[in-house]
Formats: sequence, structure tokens, C-alpha cells
Amino acid sequence: MTSPHLTPPQAPTPDELAALRQRYHRERERRVRPDGPRQYLGADAEFGFYAADPYVGEVPRREPRRDTVDVAVVGGGFGGILAGARLRRQGVERIRVIDRGGDFGGTWYWNRYPGVHCDIESHVYLPMLDETGYVPRWKYAPGEEIRRHAIRIAERAGLYADALFSTSVTALTWEESSRTWRVDTDRGDAFRATYVVTATGTMAEPKLPGIPGIKDFEGRTFHTSRWDYGYTGGTPEGGLTGLADKRVGVVGTGATGVQVIPVLARDARHVYVFQRTPSTVDVRANRRTTAADVAAGREGWARERRENFLRIVSGEPFGEDLVADGWTSSAGLLEKLVPSFRRSGDRASFESAYEAADAAKMNEIRARVERHVTDPATAETLKPWYRYACKRPTFSDTYYPAFNRSNVTLVDTADSHGIERVTANGVVVGGTEYEVDCLVLATGFSVGVSGVHSGTLPVHGRDGVRLLDAWARHGIRTLHGFTCNGFPNLIQLGSLQNASSVNFTHVLDEQAVHAAALVAAAEAKGALLEPSREAEDAWLAVLTQGSPDHEWFHAGCTPGYYNREGRGRPNGPGGYPHSACAFHELLRHWREESLDEVLT
Ligand code: NAP
Repeated sequence: MTSPHLTPPQAPTPDELAALRQRYHRERERRVRPDGPRQYLGADAEFGFYAADPYVGEVPRREPRRDTVDVAVVGGGFGGILAGARLRRQGVERIRVIDRGGDFGGTWYWNRYPGVHCDIESHVYLPMLDETGYVPRWKYAPGEEIRRHAIRIAERAGLYADALFSTSVTALTWEESSRTWRVDTDRGDAFRATYVVTATGTMAEPKLPGIPGIKDFEGRTFHTSRWDYGYTGGTPEGGLTGLADKRVGVVGTGATGVQVIPVLARDARHVYVFQRTPSTVDVRANRRTTAADVAAGREGWARERRENFLRIVSGEPFGEDLVADGWTSSAGLLEKLVPSFRRSGDRASFESAYEAADAAKMNEIRARVERHVTDPATAETLKPWYRYACKRPTFSDTYYPAFNRSNVTLVDTADSHGIERVTANGVVVGGTEYEVDCLVLATGFSVGVSGVHSGTLPVHGRDGVRLLDAWARHGIRTLHGFTCNGFPNLIQLGSLQNASSVNFTHVLDEQAVHAAALVAAAEAKGALLEPSREAEDAWLAVLTQGSPDHEWFHAGCTPGYYNREGRGRPNGPGGYPHSACAFHELLRHWREESLDEVLT
């Protein structure tokens, strides 16, 4: 199958490459800010329609829990739901999922902005399709279908009975005498759990821009993950009748902005898009699911397709490209280069071949802007000038055409490193005030920050040692990212010291299977789960020895969360240095051969 996306890009000449390098450097310099990540305010900043959960009415009253469960799962997004479902399959009875939202869904609970879709193919993104028999309706599913699927899995696994919603865990404390974790929450709960699984997400904390004056704005302000439908009217499908007479300012043109702006353009009186860095916006080509997509329902089709996608985006050899979309075709750029680099170790040849392929891809994206945007100045402003993997790629067939509408104005903020200031009535850029009634902040999330890692969810292990103190003294130490010495029966899911992928639900499902196997093995043996210091050392050595050199690439990139707002990505032990496929294989092998080493 061939991708509908790409005619083979033309290779640029050496002169063109040199000119591109200079242009990329200039564009990066227009955007790098001395305050880097400090330009953002945390989710606790007091302005706008943020703190409330817009999706529950009144939070139901309930008695605090004081009982004991088998497993407490912190977080009811896909990580927590999958952990619950996989634990249930292992025969675990009392599973209590706790989430600050009013229902299951995590990311898909909070992100219900107009136009919300998943830009990873639904047939590989939605987990447990083989097990539930569910067939997604579209190649790229709307958020509500995904949220419903999360609920479907939770219902089938019987996770509702013991779940605690609108509840935040405030402390996890190991009690040696009972060999259980005490779980405290902001609703007065103080119950015990033999095991704790943390699945608190990697993009759960909204980032708000610290633009001077933003707190003085007298119109309506909200972050896209807390959409105020009471104000805008409508649903995630659109019909935002409340905006028909409103001027809306949008800050942010990342993956979220690209989805929300076309819907706002259709429904609002006027939309001002305050752009700092344009995204790469490639072909979407959404369509209904076909029998071929799901291999006519053959058993195991979803597992096979998901594995095929992971192999392609991880740079592993694959047979047929089953998904054939923008993710797999762009990953194909590297797929041809990485194996020969791994064989030869010739970095210089790899880098120059990679740069040429990257430039061809970016030329193609820039040509797409010209094809779709009629006003040449607007088209020029929408062109991305950086290497493809510097920013997360996005996909839309409605984004660029939205800028041809007379009610949409693109405002370039790059020269002032973002919006200059916000007044009571509007937004100032380049000395011009744009009056708006409403400010939509599509400004993203603090990436990789969960309560465990930021300290808002303190974890005290054996002898009262705080996890963050232990890591501050000795560095982050885990076995496979899941378990830590001194913190028995605690299993962390997420992106710590393990392998990741753009298809994060796949990664989470493999982690959930692993977590459930650990619990089942500990239960069978009546043992505690705890890796030795030596096992952690050995894992650190794996992370360090194979650690790739990212700095050369990310240091030259335009600022964003991939490179700590332009500061580069540190080398050294971060995640597993090989592919997610290799990591999953390693886990399977370890479970068969060595799992006993963590049973004490
Ligand atoms: P994001 O990628 O972090 O983008 C934030 C945007 O806000 C950027 O365009 C940024 O500009 C802009 N911005 C921030 N401060 C600004 C200021 N002071 N003035 C002007 N512009 C400012 O956030 P996101 O779009 O919400 O996406 C976050 C992540 O969520 C994605 O990368 C993806 O992983 C996930 N996501 C996934 C999907 C999906 O379909 N699977 C959909 C949406 C989101 P700069 O680029 O210049 O910093």
C-alpha cells in the first residue's frame, strides 16, 4: 500500500542546504527567550476559567474511605484504565482507581475542545480493540469516541464500583507494620492498598503563558483543556453559537491550535491567531474505517496493526506499511538511514543524508502552505523554518484554508518572542492592540511533569524516605522505570527511564501488562516487589551505555518543549536508548527469565 501523502521529495542541492541552515538559525534566534521554560505559569495561576472542572456539575458528596484494597491506581486515563483491566485479567479483585476528573478518560476527559481528534490512527491508538470487539468509525477518531472507548474498557473491567472521582491523591506513605501503602486524598480518604500503581500522565498540567497583563484581561479566558462551552455554546463538533458575535484570540498553533482554529474560524465573528512558531501541517485525509483497515475483523488484527505502526515509527524493519499515513511516511525517511548508521557508525554520512531528507520533507510542507493559502504574505508567515523533528508534526486539511476566510487574521508574534502584553480589552503585538472578547489558550502542557515528579504528590517509602529526596541524593534510580529500591509494591507507569513512542497508548498497554504481571507474581509468592540496588545499577548502565547523542540535533532547533525552549536536550541517561519494540521484547524476556529478582 502506498501513502496518499507523498510524491518522493526532491533532494536539495548543497547551496540550498546551506541557505536553509542559515534561515533556520535566523528563525530560531527570533524565538529564543532568556526566560526559557520560566515564561510559563503553572496550572495554579489564578486567572481565567481554569481551576474548575467544567465537565461535572456539583461534585457528589461521599464518605471518606478508610478500608483496604488490593491495588490503588492513581490516575484514570488510559494508563490507569489499562492497568486496572490487565490487573483484573490477572484475577486481582479490589482495584481502586482515583482521579481528579469526574470520570475515566484522562487526557480525553479534559481535552474536549472543538475539533478535538486523535492524530494517531484510531485503529492503532485505541487500546484493547481485539478484546472489546470495538471498531472505530473513523481513521482518525474524534475525542468523544475515544473517551467513550476509555469508559467502555473501564466498565468491562468493573473499575467503576470502587473508583473515586473528583479526588486528588495528596500522599502515598509506606507502612512497614502492615506492609501496605496508606493513600491520603483531598477528600479526607485515608485507605490502605497492598500495591500502588501511579499513572498520572505525562501531559496533565496545563501551561499558561506568563504574558504581562494577562491577569488584567476583562474578557473570557480559558485553556483548551478546560473548554468553556457555557460561554461558547456548541459541542466538540462545533456549533459554537455563543461566539457568533465574538472576537476570539487564540494563543498557540501546536497540535491543539491546528485542530481548534478551523472550528473557531467557522463559528466566531472574528478570529485572531497569535502565532509564534508555525507548525508543520501535513495531509490528514480522514475517512471512514474500511474492512481492509481491520483486516475484515480477523482475530488479532488490532494487535498486528499496532505492532506494525510501532515498528515503522521506531525505525525497525517492517513488511507492509499497514497504516500508510503522514506518521509512517515521515518515519520512513529515517527508516532507510538508521539501519546503515547502526551498522557503520558513520555519523557524518548519517547526518548529511538525514539533513537532505529532512529538507526535502520541509520543502514539501512549505509548498503545501503556498498551494492552500491565497494571500502570499499570510502564506509566508505560515511556513515553518526548522527541521521536521524539531517540533511535533501536525496534520489537517482544514487548517491552512481557514486563513483564506475574511474573518481570520494571522498575527505574527515571533519578533517580540510571543505576545507583548495583554490589556483589559485585547492583545498587543508590535505596538498594535487587537481587541478581543475571548482568549483561548492553546498553550500546551508541562511535559513529563506528574505529581510524583513535581512533588505535589509526595511519596514516602521505607523508613519515611521521600522519593524525591532519594532521587535528589542519588539521581533517579529505577528498574525499567517501574520499581524502586526502598519503595516496595510501588509501580510507576509513564515515561520515566523506559521507552516511549508517539502512539503512547501502545506503550501504556505494554506497561500495564507488565505491572499486572509483577503484582500477580508477588501475590503468588506472598512476596514484596522491590528491586535491589544492584538491579537498579544494572538498568542505569543499560540507559547510560546506549545513550544516543541528542544534543547535536536539538541544540539547533527552534524552541519548544522538545528542547526545553531552546536550551537543548541533555545527553545522558534519559529513556531506554533503543526502540520501544526492543524495550517491549526486553520486558517479555525479563518476565520469563528474571522476574523473581524483584520478589523479596
Ligand atoms: P504545544 O505543542 O506545547 O504548543 C503550544 C503553543 O503555544 C505553541 O504554538 C507555542 O508557540 C504557543 N505559545 C506559548 N506561549 C506563547 C506566547 N507567549 N505567545 C505566543 N504563542 C505562545 O501545545 P499543544 O498544541 O496543546 O500540544 C501539546 C501536545 O499535546 C502535543 O505536542 C501532542 O503531544 C499532544 N496533542 C496531541 C494531539 C493528538 O491528536 N494526538 C492533539 C493535540 C495535542 P511556540 O511553538 O513558539 O513555543
